[in-house]
Amino acid sequence: MIATKTVRSYIGGKFRESRADKTEPIPNPATGQIIASLPYSTRAEIDEAVAAAKKAFLGWSETPVPDRAQVMFRFKALFDRHIDELSALVTQENGKTLDEARGEVKRAIEVIDFACGAPTLMMGQNLDQIAKGIDEELTRFPVGVVAGITPFNFPNMVPLWMIPVAIVTGNTFVLKPSQLTPLSAVRIAELLEEAGLPEGVFSVVHGANDAVNQLLTHPDVAAISFVGSATVAAYIYATAAANGKRVQALGGAKNHILVMDDAELEPSAQNVISSAFGNAGQRCLAGSVAVGVGKIGDALVRELASDAAKLKLGPGTDPDTTLGPVIRGERKTKLIEYIDGAESDGAQLISDGRHVDLKEGFFLGPTIFDRVTPNMKIWKEELFGPVLSVMRAADIDEALNLLNRSTFGNMASIFTTSGKNAREFKRRAQAGMLGVNIGVAAPMAFFPFTGWKNSFFGDLHATGQDSVRFYTRHKVVTTRWF
Ligand code: NAD
Repeated sequence: MIATKTVRSYIGGKFRESRADKTEPIPNPATGQIIASLPYSTRAEIDEAVAAAKKAFLGWSETPVPDRAQVMFRFKALFDRHIDELSALVTQENGKTLDEARGEVKRAIEVIDFACGAPTLMMGQNLDQIAKGIDEELTRFPVGVVAGITPFNFPNMVPLWMIPVAIVTGNTFVLKPSQLTPLSAVRIAELLEEAGLPEGVFSVVHGANDAVNQLLTHPDVAAISFVGSATVAAYIYATAAANGKRVQALGGAKNHILVMDDAELEPSAQNVISSAFGNAGQRCLAGSVAVGVGKIGDALVRELASDAAKLKLGPGTDPDTTLGPVIRGERKTKLIEYIDGAESDGAQLISDGRHVDLKEGFFLGPTIFDRVTPNMKIWKEELFGPVLSVMRAADIDEALNLLNRSTFGNMASIFTTSGKNAREFKRRAQAGMLGVNIGVAAPMAFFPFTGWKNSFFGDLHATGQDSVRFYTRHKVVTTRWF
């Protein structure tokens, strides 16, 4: 028997069970067993969270920046202390392996580290004597109540892309985590409370579209930070902007990895495999299209198939597992539809992950298609699962044209031993995060997460200096003393 718990919300400094009628069962993706029940927050509860955030803003925005940073130092220490438990929780609700979950939590900690530097990050600018006897200065102020809306694939890290910087710069924050993975969000609230964050500065509400729409149109929400799929990101951007809010909306991806025929085959293929199949392909930086450039195509496909065959499917808690489940049974069904469709479209199936031995959970084996072409659905759309497409290009120009035809522009990588090819790629690839001999080109927290095209809607990205600017507004004061 697995004990199911009711997921609580955290509103105005109180953990509580929602009074809602609508609940969502939360399964462990590795077993399919229900581990928790998630009541959606009611409209009144969401209003209460925003009201608490609005009230708390008065005091928190006036709290000296070094004191706000001290909360982040304590929060960071708690994250370090609880890293094993936080990682296990991610594995339990999302399915990824414990190693992958630990990697996620470490990445989250980097953002807390970055936020600890708030006294420096918040500094303004000034210029003495812009005209005779006149000085000018720029000062940063928080924007107000920020709402964060996050996806299922990084239940710990993605909320932490937002929360530390938003809070340390003096804003208050209402998080609406994915209804598929709500457990980590509640644990984050517990640790923020333990770190001494005053009540109302951070709240967690639960739900799906209705909760999001309420936050998008709420008159007391000043800014929206969103991470999720491209269609929803476009909707969030338009709706939040129409409601007068500052918005950053990170969308989906279709990341191409070019493997040049001058590349070192073995390490390049291994990197493509871990990019495509790490986190079961449920990663916005997953390399989902490998482009063999020049004569390397056949050798690359052979190497990829052999590496994929070595992946071990299983629950994330098993230390031997290298490929965990996908998030839900429905997602698995949808992915199988894509695979069936690609076969009928004429793509060559090299590794078929549709039939797995595991009886429980939502597992799909590593799937690789060769000879994928741009007219195929599996090239056009983001699949978000353990499915890799291989394409062929005669030269770097053809490969870059392919990559640049994608409607997405999150990440792209090149594997090469040629500096000339790498330079061409860096200048011409139309994606915001690029890797040279790196399979997952994830920027560190002090750089922004710079998706392009349908992978990002807005101006200022998550993390890095962009995030400080997103969560602050400026005053420029011009002064003369007679
Ligand atoms: P999703 O778009 O389905 O959901 C994201 C959030 O939006 C959830 O909180 C959900 O409740 C809410 N939502 C979903 N549909 C909505 C609607 N119609 N109206 C209002 N709110 C809605 O995304 P997901 O399946 O949870 O996550 C996977 C997606 O996130 C992938 O597309 C992935 O590429 C993307 N992602 C992008 C990045 C990035 O940095 N660009 C990072 C992580 C994930």
